[in-house]
Amino acid sequence: MQECLFCKIISGEIPADIILDKKNILAFKDINPQAPVHILIIPKIHISTLNDIDAINSDIIGDLVKTASEIAKIKGIDRSGYRTVFNCNHDGGQTVFHIHLHLIGGRLLSWPPG
Ligand code: 5GP
Ligand code: ZN
Repeated sequence: MQECLFCKIISGEIPADIILDKKNILAFKDINPQAPVHILIIPKIHISTLNDIDAINSDIIGDLVKTASEIAKIKGIDRSGYRTVFNCNHDGGQTVFHIHLHLIGGRLLSWPPG
């Protein structure tokens, strides 16, 4: 999608601090980190929100979650713990409409979220 920020990161048009580059998935550092580890994990195909997941593309969700756990191990936060979050639409706090899994860790995270 031409106007999508994360599609532009995938194409290389906009630079990002890449953590992992797989066939179907890209992981990069969040530009405004909320914790010592804050990484965004995205599919290389454009999917706007969690509401657009269907029987055809749902495999990607497992791949995103699996990638999050791999990166958590690489970053050494798998034992201490971390949070994975999909924000969806306005009330969920979604600001970029290309589906992304936040991987957040490296400090004690409070609950419930604000
Ligand atoms: P959302 O609020 O949609 O769940 O998360 C979007 C995330 O993208 C935010 O945490 C924000 O800091 C991050 N973000 C926004 N623009 C950029 C950018 O240009 N580069 C990177 N690496 N992250 C971005
Ligand atoms: Zn996109």
